[in-house]
Amino acid sequence: MDLKTKISELSGVGPAYAKRLEKIGVETVEDLLFYFPRKYDDFSKTVPIGQIKLNENISVVGEIWEIKNKKSRRGITVTEAVVADNTGTLKAVWFNQPFLIKNLKQGDKISLAGKLEWSYAGTSMVSPSYEKLAKGPSLSSEQKHTGGIIPVYPETEGLTSKWLRAKIKPLLKLVDQIEEYLPEEVAKGLSLSKLQDAIREMHFPTSMDSLDRARERVAFDEMFLLQLAVLNNKKINEKDKASKISFDETLTKKFVQSLDFELTEAQRKAAWEILKDIQNDKPMNRLLEGDVGSGKTVVAAMALLNAAKAACPNRSRRGFQAVLLSPTEVLASQHFESLSKLFNEFGINICLLTSSKIVSSKQLAVNSKQEIRNELLREIETGGIDILIGTHAVLNEEIQFKNLGLVIVDEQHRFGVEQRSKLRKESGDTKTTPHFLSMTATPIPRTLTLTIYGDLDVSILDEMPKGRQQISTRVVPHSKREDAYGFIRKEVESGRQVFVICPLIEESDKLGVKSAETEYKKLKERIFPELNIGLLHGKLRSKEKEAIMDDFKQNKINILVSTSVIEVGVDVPNASVMMIEGAERFGLAQLHQFRGRVGRAEHKSYCFLFTDSDAETTRKRLESLVNTYSGFELAERDLEIRGPGEIFGTHQHGLPDIDMKNLMNIALIKRTRAAAEGFLGKNDLEKYPLLKEKAGKYNVVNNLE
Ligand code: ADP
Ligand code: MG
Repeated sequence: MDLKTKISELSGVGPAYAKRLEKIGVETVEDLLFYFPRKYDDFSKTVPIGQIKLNENISVVGEIWEIKNKKSRRGITVTEAVVADNTGTLKAVWFNQPFLIKNLKQGDKISLAGKLEWSYAGTSMVSPSYEKLAKGPSLSSEQKHTGGIIPVYPETEGLTSKWLRAKIKPLLKLVDQIEEYLPEEVAKGLSLSKLQDAIREMHFPTSMDSLDRARERVAFDEMFLLQLAVLNNKKINEKDKASKISFDETLTKKFVQSLDFELTEAQRKAAWEILKDIQNDKPMNRLLEGDVGSGKTVVAAMALLNAAKAACPNRSRRGFQAVLLSPTEVLASQHFESLSKLFNEFGINICLLTSSKIVSSKQLAVNSKQEIRNELLREIETGGIDILIGTHAVLNEEIQFKNLGLVIVDEQHRFGVEQRSKLRKESGDTKTTPHFLSMTATPIPRTLTLTIYGDLDVSILDEMPKGRQQISTRVVPHSKREDAYGFIRKEVESGRQVFVICPLIEESDKLGVKSAETEYKKLKERIFPELNIGLLHGKLRSKEKEAIMDDFKQNKINILVSTSVIEVGVDVPNASVMMIEGAERFGLAQLHQFRGRVGRAEHKSYCFLFTDSDAETTRKRLESLVNTYSGFELAERDLEIRGPGEIFGTHQHGLPDIDMKNLMNIALIKRTRAAAEGFLGKNDLEKYPLLKEKAGKYNVVNNLE
């Protein structure tokens, strides 16, 4: 037997167990040795029975004097045992384990771990861990479940800690065969435990101190390997060639002057970082993060403008083509409109291409829909179009560009590996890669931008345009619902508009959950018969959605009832009230997004949260929304409450479960990042196959799409 032995070949591991182990990623002996406990119970203090103190975690060794099953009044089997050593006796009880008496018999030598406490049976040990020992003088090495610091493994269906301990302990002798993968130059000077020592101590610690050292090593490795994987991807990307997009200062100044507002300092800085990046012959790989309403579009516009107008001497056309992608058709249309306006005086050909809509600022001499589409694709291919705006789905089309230089994706955290390679193929020049910019309003906690997002450069808009006011946020109790409607009526009378968000489209059997259709009817027929109410949800056809959004933008609709389709990016500055039904059903980041739909101009704005849940967690979550206006803080809180898997979908992508504690530990992150950078600066990971294999498990960039 060695490290590579299949786990199914171990005695006592049948097909059922093999399957359960496979589910947690354990296929070989080595995998099992790297499957670490979640926590530990310290039962290392073994005391004579006569000296046990109440409520103290201890182990005892004694002889079973008596053991029997009883039925409780509620029909539960209670196993009661009396255990004695030469200092006294104690009682132990277990519930619902009638089979215990087959295994533990009068006269057996037994070790128990737990605490002595008051129970219905007087002072006793309730459900202690137990194990039978060989008679004669005790050998601590035979104990796995008592008499030490006892590992507790992550809870998984059908795999108990007890079972895992029994399987792992005898395998520890193979730890000697595990090869150290940390190169000496990394480990040097960091005073880390040796890998083999750390693995042994992780499973069966000899002391709390040595356990701490082992945990330090394991945490270091996890973050180091993650960083190594991410930074190595970055290194590989940087080997690609990109076209230099020159910076036209006069043009950019003219553009900034044409705006009817002043750029914020943060916008200037971000634009400058982006414009500097794209002048490079390495592809930009940047994330622009800015809270909702912080003005990312105009920053993107400055990059698009420079790309479209850049001098590119060796090409047949002036300027590079660029693409701007959005998650929804509503947003793509909105971008088309605002960019058409922004670029009005700049002579740029923009087109919008989505599955239901095609618009081009360049006149096309054809009529039918299919002809227009084909004509447009031809224009893109021959370079007649400068900027293509579309949904992410545009990537599924067979598009060929003349010279694609810049790609921007809105409301997405990063480009996927596939998106990238597709665009590279279509860019019109296989030798270069376009510059990539992603934009997101989901603030990514700093610890994550240094780890999972460590391959991206980040620009942050941490400042709101002038004149924005804090959106007054409130959880509205049932009794105040009528007041809220009264307030809404007043806002509409003074010219403002209102969003009402509901968790569902239609009434369903989920009783009590508000649906957009029912709320729409109620508001239209009973509450506000004199006002114009609109209804928007994902089941409408794109054309219908668009017509409704247009009406809302033109203030033909006073109150828009919607599902979460409204979430990202929608810009209607005249709206001043965001009312959210069933608020407990949305995540914090999502609620913050909804709230960001109002307060986008000078009007004082309000967010009203309604909930039917009186759960403590709901109350806490909604309270943090009421008290916190920073998307960053809310994201950190979301990260703490729900973990990165939930937020960033890493669970679905087979990423190893990264320990949250490590992912929030900024000191550890800095230390490991420095180590990974130092190593990659001098070495080629390809030359370290074992290390590369280990790091490969953490290849977030490939997994996170
Ligand atoms: P987001 O970052 O959420 O995408 P947008 O780019 O849609 O934000 O901008 C939100 C609104 O703020 C738009 O109406 C835009 O014209 C306006 N805006 C952007 N920058 C500024 C600024 N510096 N001053 C005032 N208004 C601005
Ligand atoms: Mg936006």
